[in-house]
Amino acid sequence: MDSCNQKSTMNTNPLLEEFSTVHNTPPFDQIQSSHYLPAFKEAIIKAKADIDKIVSSTEEPTFENTILALEYAGKQLNDVSNIFFNINSAETNEEIQAIAREVSPLLTEYSNDIVLNETLFRKVKTVYDSRNKLNLNEEQLKLLEDSYKGFERKGALLKGEDKERYRSITSKLSQLTLQFGENILAETNGYKLHITDEADLSGLPAGIIEAAATVAKSENKEGWIFTLQFPSYVPFMKYADNRELRRQMYMAYSTRANHDNEYDNKEIITQIVNLRLEKAKLLGYENHAQFILEERMAQTPEKVNTFLDELFARSIDFAKNEIAEVETFAQKNGLKDQLQRWDFSYYSEKLKAEKFDFTEEMTKPYFQLEKVIDGVFGLANSLYGISFKENKNIPVYHKEVKAYEVLDEDGSFLAVLYLDFHPRSGKRGGAWMTNYREQYIKDGKNIRPFVSLVCNFSRPTEDTPSLLTHNEVTTFLHEFGHGLHGMLANTTYQSLSGTNVYRDFVELPSQLLENWGTEKEWLKLVGKHYKTGEVIPDELVDKILASSNFQSGYLSVRQLSFGMNDMAWHSINTPFKGLVTEFEKEAMAKTELFPQVEGTCFSTAFSHIFSGGYAAGYYGYKWAEVLDADAFKAFKKNGIFNKETAASFRKNILSKGGTKHPMELYVAFRGQEPTPDALLERSGLVK
Ligand SMILES: [Zn+2]
Repeated sequence: MDSCNQKSTMNTNPLLEEFSTVHNTPPFDQIQSSHYLPAFKEAIIKAKADIDKIVSSTEEPTFENTILALEYAGKQLNDVSNIFFNINSAETNEEIQAIAREVSPLLTEYSNDIVLNETLFRKVKTVYDSRNKLNLNEEQLKLLEDSYKGFERKGALLKGEDKERYRSITSKLSQLTLQFGENILAETNGYKLHITDEADLSGLPAGIIEAAATVAKSENKEGWIFTLQFPSYVPFMKYADNRELRRQMYMAYSTRANHDNEYDNKEIITQIVNLRLEKAKLLGYENHAQFILEERMAQTPEKVNTFLDELFARSIDFAKNEIAEVETFAQKNGLKDQLQRWDFSYYSEKLKAEKFDFTEEMTKPYFQLEKVIDGVFGLANSLYGISFKENKNIPVYHKEVKAYEVLDEDGSFLAVLYLDFHPRSGKRGGAWMTNYREQYIKDGKNIRPFVSLVCNFSRPTEDTPSLLTHNEVTTFLHEFGHGLHGMLANTTYQSLSGTNVYRDFVELPSQLLENWGTEKEWLKLVGKHYKTGEVIPDELVDKILASSNFQSGYLSVRQLSFGMNDMAWHSINTPFKGLVTEFEKEAMAKTELFPQVEGTCFSTAFSHIFSGGYAAGYYGYKWAEVLDADAFKAFKKNGIFNKETAASFRKNILSKGGTKHPMELYVAFRGQEPTPDALLERSGLVK
């Protein structure tokens, strides 16, 4: 049997065959790491042939033979890339990382071959210039405009040396941003706090200790091991009584990729920001932020800076008072010197417990993962009438991943949804939604999407199932909101489908869904004690709600400080030459609420902006909060399970993707433009 399998994998590459699985999902059970590189090479050749066909056509350029042909070009490459890069985030290893390094420049080269091809651009421009005479519908026109603009923004108008320089900048940037993320992963995995003296566990909840013992056991070590992964790091900082160990953990976390070793990111940051600046200038912009924001709801750096400054002004006094309150509380409870960063979440947690008689840990017994999944599915069902059915025949990339068929109200097939919940060493930190396939309509056939949600929630231990804190429930709702944007997509073109919207709009569906997590009606539906089945008591729900605005001033300033740091890095108009740590200190100075700690650096681990897609875009989280608070008001007005409000949100926003300007979509749903009032009110930041 083995030899038989071997033979088939030797001769064929599942990535290059038609997927003969349920719903044609990726055949994860057949894909091996060694398949990726040859698949990429082959798919790139095919994609180039698609492009050549458009370029060499002697027909007059039309919407169909140019714009549509481009939209459909390189389908296989798209499929292979989706699978590969999703796996590189969720289940990577050294072999896959090496392939990513090898493949990234090839992909950049391919994309450059398209956008820098002058004949192709001439054809696109011919169609674009005659757009008003073509009788295109709104979606076709948007596709044409986006396509033309895409060429322009990727250097199509450049000539000669500038064009060559552009090509080398983009290829270098793709390597550097990848390296940046790998360095953080290496530094995160490289640190372990090994505790052998039980006294050092003082203050930590039993579940956390048990998880740390499980880690130690898996490494054949005595005692307990804590790591820098969130489910270990966050509770350690909240509960560990041993201040020196908290300091060590904090320092390990906050100095990642700032150790002047092989994983240091400082030089990489310098190179990234300078190359981004050079690229923006080549394209005729003053800086990278201006280039990026042209295609955002916010439009200009000035508007973003004003937005950040206004919210900062309305949050800072609240934040300062909150810090002072924690410091006073800490000193009353034995802290002898100044409050440091490694004390903040520890004493905050205790203050919160005293103020509200509440800790996040108290919520865990009521949020068993399986029940929360049911609750979130139930919410989607109440709002949109959709249902979820696990299908074990759909191949998955890790045995912990579950695959579901998602059905619409009328029973028609909507999507495949993968859920992947627990941390692994090959998985990056945080939580995210992604696609293995995006929705589109071709030849009258609606191709439905494959959506995946990846989280890092505590895994079950020997005695207990996976239990979530209320915060983690909120994270799940957030990612699920993105998931709905993908699953309910219904547009003709893939490049305008689902989450393919402006970055400062993309967090609206996700953050909107978080609102149900602070609604009593919904919490009572999902919160059931994992041992007794008892519904979460009113008293505890009241505490969750009362404490939900705890330190909202501080949290607001913290988010704004990340946004300001991001804007500073990407608003430089001349090449950066100084020290990364000094630049950051200055950019974040006015938001700094604690004593400076030598050696720490936020930017060296700021993967959102240096290896993710959030450069000059981190403000988008706050921007979307304004939108989501305003949008949720519509749901509150008519009842949070009101099907009509939900149907309007689905029709005007979720299904529409990027087919229209986001403000137009928003106004269609809400009847008016959003204001920050609902957000400030909801966060209690009103004097
Ligand atoms: Zn999000």
